[in-house]
Amino acid sequence: MDRKKLIADLKQQFMLKRVRAQEEVDEFIEGLRIDPEFDKMYSQYSQKSLEYWRESFNEENLMLKHDVEDLKLKIEKYLSDRNIDVSRLKPKYECPICNDTGVVGGRVCKCLLNKLNSEISKSCSSSTNFKTFDMCNPNIMDEVDKKAKDKLVSWCENYPNVSKININILGVAGSGKTFFLECLAGSLINKGHSVCFKTAFELNELARLYHIGKSYEFMDCVNSEILLIDDLGTEPIIKNVSKEYLYNLINTRQIKNLATIISTNLSLNDLLDRYDERIFSRLVNKNLSLTIQLTSKDKRI
Ligand SMILES: [Zn+2]
Repeated sequence: MDRKKLIADLKQQFMLKRVRAQEEVDEFIEGLRIDPEFDKMYSQYSQKSLEYWRESFNEENLMLKHDVEDLKLKIEKYLSDRNIDVSRLKPKYECPICNDTGVVGGRVCKCLLNKLNSEISKSCSSSTNFKTFDMCNPNIMDEVDKKAKDKLVSWCENYPNVSKININILGVAGSGKTFFLECLAGSLINKGHSVCFKTAFELNELARLYHIGKSYEFMDCVNSEILLIDDLGTEPIIKNVSKEYLYNLINTRQIKNLATIISTNLSLNDLLDRYDERIFSRLVNKNLSLTIQLTSKDKRI
């Protein structure tokens, strides 16, 4: 996906939001001006405000300032006497920090960043319902699960300042590993990070399409801030594609220090058997990866 184009689109959306908010105020005032009393008051207010604004470049004119404030109070009284919401005189912006400009103090506002991240995550993670750790049901969690959850919550809270950048969640079907993966994704998105969530099957298919020049989405996954791969080991091994692209993906992400989180129902031995030493040693690197083994009982009730 084209990040620059996305930012340009979002800036355009933000500008339209501002225009719309101002238009709403204009329409509101136009409606009120049907009453000659309000119209007169508002014309005086506009004129005095303009004069005050012009003169304020030279020196502050206290007389004018007083007139403007006086007229503003009169307008507000006119409205409250008629039970009309006074706040409608000001544009209503969604973000009180940047007033929907997307910029604050020369930097990109958090609201624009969050929007950008959720757009990127959306386009990268079509098949997932994101969850958060508060959705964990303690009644079906044993001690192992609780410990695993605590580790993952603390990793999320500390990210990106974590000692181990990758996570492997091991456990057989029904052990809750996909649930934990979705909790990680949701919590990280809520923190404003950009997340790419794929099943191993989807990722494998993207690698195949990339290999034959049909789609470049695989590279979005390789370069995403945080990549989550669900159910590694369930994808078919395509000759010259699956292992090769997986190796390149993991290797590239390790060099760039990007977080890769996987779930798998394979044991460490099975992983080594299936993907050979090069992939295995990068996945299960004790210095870089937190490996969590879940218990086996079926929690899908
Ligand atoms: Zn903002």
